[in-house]
Amino acid sequence: MALNLVMLGPPGAGKGTQASRLAQSRGVPHISTGEILREAVQAGTDLGRKAEMVIEAGQLVNDEIMIGIVNDRLGKDDARHGFLLDGFPRTVSQADALDNMLGVREPLVVIDLSVNDDELVRRLSTRRMCESCGAITGSVNGRPTATCGTCGGALKQRSDDREDVVRQRLIVYRQRTEPLIGYYQQRPTFRSIDGSQDEEAVAALVGAAVDGVAA
Ligand code: AMP
Repeated sequence: MALNLVMLGPPGAGKGTQASRLAQSRGVPHISTGEILREAVQAGTDLGRKAEMVIEAGQLVNDEIMIGIVNDRLGKDDARHGFLLDGFPRTVSQADALDNMLGVREPLVVIDLSVNDDELVRRLSTRRMCESCGAITGSVNGRPTATCGTCGGALKQRSDDREDVVRQRLIVYRQRTEPLIGYYQQRPTFRSIDGSQDEEAVAALVGAAVDGVAA
């Protein structure tokens, strides 16, 4: 059976980490809209030029652009038998559009990762990204690691992980994205998980939740 999954949660909740693990174990593509935008910024495309300032201000790229990106991506061959969305939807309009895109596909499984603000700010301020492979590396004993644990590449801080931008991203999350919990929570395929535990523990809970709702 196809797995169509949305990973919800505030920035720093572990959506990317958990989505990437789950995508590997379930054999479905991990689609991160933040990553698609960062690639466009790097490549200097029209989209990248439009998105760069919005991202650095901790705001959201407009719905029409994001819906277009996801519609195209879900139409690709590798997403025919399932997908794992990380960072989309972020607004009610995006969620409505996603429902419309699904058509006759299997129902959406929605996993919400909840983590309190102090822990989110702590995680994001020590988070580093590998310049070579894009892997997210957290910290060991509260200190960022020097090199990528996956490929040994150099690490950098995301420009929107600075504390002032992080605080703004959290405000935008509460205003525009958190209402999606109410949007989805009546569905039988919605699960909320405590994302404040360590990566392995959360991965076990996510795996069990997916098995429970997508059985
Ligand atoms: P992320 O990597 O998911 O934290 O996304 C990084 C940034 O990209 C966000 O703070 C937004 O500025 C932008 N972005 C990513 N996904 C979306 C989306 N679905 N809607 C609007 N903006 C987005």
